[in-house]
Amino acid sequence: ELTAANDALQRRHQETSEISRRKSGFIARLSHELRTPLTGILGHAGLLHDAKRDTTSIDENVRLIEANATHLVSLVDNVLDQASLEAGQLALHPVPTRLGGLCRDMEATFTSLAKTKGIEFRLHRRGSLPEWVEVDGTRLRQIVINLVTNGIKYTDRGFVALITAWADGRLQVSVSDTGPGIDRRARERIFLPFHREGGASEKRGAGLGLAISAQLVELMGGSLRVDDRPGGGSVFGFTVPAPACEVMVGGSGGEDGGGKRILMVDDSTDILVLYSRLLAKSGFVVDTAADEPEAWQKFEQQRPVAVLVDLYLKEWEGTGLMQRLRARGFSGGVVAWSASSLREDKQRAMSAGADMYLVKPVEPTVLCASLNEIILRRTPQLVTGPE
Ligand code: ADP
Repeated sequence: ELTAANDALQRRHQETSEISRRKSGFIARLSHELRTPLTGILGHAGLLHDAKRDTTSIDENVRLIEANATHLVSLVDNVLDQASLEAGQLALHPVPTRLGGLCRDMEATFTSLAKTKGIEFRLHRRGSLPEWVEVDGTRLRQIVINLVTNGIKYTDRGFVALITAWADGRLQVSVSDTGPGIDRRARERIFLPFHREGGASEKRGAGLGLAISAQLVELMGGSLRVDDRPGGGSVFGFTVPAPACEVMVGGSGGEDGGGKRILMVDDSTDILVLYSRLLAKSGFVVDTAADEPEAWQKFEQQRPVAVLVDLYLKEWEGTGLMQRLRARGFSGGVVAWSASSLREDKQRAMSAGADMYLVKPVEPTVLCASLNEIILRRTPQLVTGPE
């Protein structure tokens, strides 16, 4: 009995040391991973400053700043997601999601990225897919992006293919590549957080993408698997519940705001400027407010059909505003959002009167579809039916 207990203790000790070793390696790599894009951003911003009238070099500098900033955001997001997943705090937010839109976005993003590496990005649909399904579109996108990015990162010749199929309320996704493939013994390790295989050392990465993807797929009710691709390379695949849903075009759930008036409340001018432009482009009429008195003033003047409120505002709580809106009898749509994916934040927002909670950054198409969906639910008289 003693020997068994001793063995178990020793195993625990080995496991803890292994986790600690991976975490230390991760922190060292993280600091390098953060510094590289930051140096790029600062360097290109400086060059932009000097470029002044030379529009071609301005375009190139802006593109590189964007690319580096995007990489930084995904790095920070990954670290935060992993922490929330470890704490069991990450909640899913299923919303009507357009599968065709997701595939088109992947094609637009990855075709040129693959081309720059001299490989091909292929998109296949097996059978027909419903137009709208109820799924956490942001997380689904995140998983697919992780898998395709890996495929392209580790493949030097041939192609990376994204294959989708749908049957009986379940969505099947697989990403195959003609890269080096994954050794059988490494197949369990690659899903561990902070783990990277030796051959990956010269590529960018923090060893979190697959760990997060596997945990997200599990939360969605599936499991992420890896296999050999016949003919060489690897195939990552999963199946998750994604029931088809009906969304009326021309008023509900679609991406066209159709002139509907909404009020956006956020204390960040950057967010107000960025998202009000995106929403206006999709046909919404957008008023913005940066604090509570301004929010009330715009609310009384403009009578919006829906209000979009940030949960975390500097001086005051978004929840207070939502509660007061409902207390005054506002029966229109209230969408709360914030950068936090914690379950308790969603609960706080919902109990303050929100109809829906979204996590920033929100894809513009998801935001439009969500606003439309809530407006349809709350004020169906506004829906004019198909045009
Ligand atoms: P990262 O790419 O940041 O290292 P991931 O968690 O995405 O982290 O992947 C973990 C490891 O799995 C990588 O270091 C790499 O060795 C291996 N891997 C992932 N995807 C592929 C792929 N498509 N082909 C070959 N190896 C892969």
